[in-house]
Amino acid sequence: MKFSEFAALCYQLEQTSSRLTKVDLAAEYLKRLNAKEIRHGIAFLAGRPFPVSDSRTLDIGPGAFAHASDTPELENSVSPELTLVDIADSFSAIAEANGKGSRSTKYARLRELVEMTGSQERPILFRLLHNELRIGLHDGLIQEAIARASGADLKTVRRAALFLSDLAEVASIALTQGGAALQGVDIKLFVPLLPMLSELSEDFDDVLAAHGGTTAFEFKYDGARVQIHKDGNQVRIWSRRLTEVTGSLPEIAQIVRSDLIGDSFILDGEVVAVGKDGRPFPFQELMRRFRRIHNIEAAAIDIPLHLHLFDCLLLNGASLIDESYERRWQTLTNITGGKHLAHRQITSDEVLAESFLKDALAAGHEGLMAKSLSSPYMPGNRGKLWFKIKPAETVDCAIIAADRGSGRRRGWLSNYHLAVADGEGGFAPVGKTFKGLTDKQFTEMTARLQELQIADDGYTVSVKPEVVVEVAYNEIQHSPQYSSKFALRFARIKRIRDDKNVDQITTLTELQNLYDRQFVSKSKRTEL
Ligand code: AMP
Repeated sequence: MKFSEFAALCYQLEQTSSRLTKVDLAAEYLKRLNAKEIRHGIAFLAGRPFPVSDSRTLDIGPGAFAHASDTPELENSVSPELTLVDIADSFSAIAEANGKGSRSTKYARLRELVEMTGSQERPILFRLLHNELRIGLHDGLIQEAIARASGADLKTVRRAALFLSDLAEVASIALTQGGAALQGVDIKLFVPLLPMLSELSEDFDDVLAAHGGTTAFEFKYDGARVQIHKDGNQVRIWSRRLTEVTGSLPEIAQIVRSDLIGDSFILDGEVVAVGKDGRPFPFQELMRRFRRIHNIEAAAIDIPLHLHLFDCLLLNGASLIDESYERRWQTLTNITGGKHLAHRQITSDEVLAESFLKDALAAGHEGLMAKSLSSPYMPGNRGKLWFKIKPAETVDCAIIAADRGSGRRRGWLSNYHLAVADGEGGFAPVGKTFKGLTDKQFTEMTARLQELQIADDGYTVSVKPEVVVEVAYNEIQHSPQYSSKFALRFARIKRIRDDKNVDQITTLTELQNLYDRQFVSKSKRTEL
């Protein structure tokens, strides 16, 4: 397929607000892709230069765009025959240029590519390079289009998407082997799947009631989620966002090889950085370990990691995700021989639960998780089967804009506009804060937000909502000032959540629940 046809589709999609029309148009486009084009075709449609499971990045700074957008349209170099595969090949060449002189190679490739596009296609190419197509086609609609184009039912497409974590893979199977082939897609070793998530609760009453009177409480460790896949001697580890982190965590891979029993399995757990006194290190230290690619051994001594496992999704080729939590835990106990397990207590007694929470907090952990004993493992699901209970009142917000600082904060973007998810793919502002960051973090955040800039009125810089921050607050107030109708009083940034995507932030509905709960004094636990 020609890139000009893709660009024309983008303009059509942009112009219609009808969901149905969007799905129709996208499905027609998918049907026309040949086998070699499907993966790129889906990535591009989702506004990405590469498919989700392809970890390559273009790695070109804003300078490159300025450079490339100067390119005059030279009639003789514009290629009306430019195809999707040509674009994908150029992206590969840009991504793969590294080492000495790579910057100029990247610029040269980018320039060649830009020169080949005509005036219709060029804006679409630029939006792709920026990872943002703005055609209103989120993953849900792409899933519908895959279903429509392949004749699979939507439920099957969704299930396959959870297991493969990449719509490019889903579409490849559906469109080359037929929609029915998706039914055979299952959890598979070395293909990470989205982790199961929890809903926030503050009240043991609610949690116990939702779980039928008895629940499994586990320590909620203040670390980072890991999904561990092992087959024989091969061990690979992924983060919550499905980035591979095996190289940064050699001692965890070693624990898996030497301490755990079983030929092949997939486990879910949390790693925590610990100090010499055995108490957890701050979260930022742990993130440093995750990003580390050099001097891993020195880091492993400086910041040792503990592993706390809490789930088992696959054992020796058999999927366990439809089994109950209790059965999965039993399997996990067999694999671990009781070592490296999350601390847990099954109870129906609120007083015991309170004291278990105190133990968790006293040991420096974040709170508790409560898991329904009969629950299956639902990848990517956030619901009442798992609750998290933490005493500090925090929400996760996206930064959607920032004001220029004055006085001591001059030169920085320092007053951050915070937003929760409005539940419809947009963002609802809930307040502003300049509290919580160190000077160094302000400097780094300023640079980061400048890269994400989408508008600037001289005082406030609007940014693409990508940075997620955990925000502590004292009270949620009703506020006519914000479209969300809520404002966080005394908001301060507790930490920068680089481990979270914007689609994982607090929703307006959750905020409403937290607001409502403020008035139920019986269940309000302020200090423990
Ligand atoms: P949050 O990050 O605030 O949404 O809380 C859920 C996170 O808690 C999970 O994604 C895990 O990274 C972490 N966590 C810590 N301990 C546990 C546990 N025992 N079970 C499940 N998740 C846990």
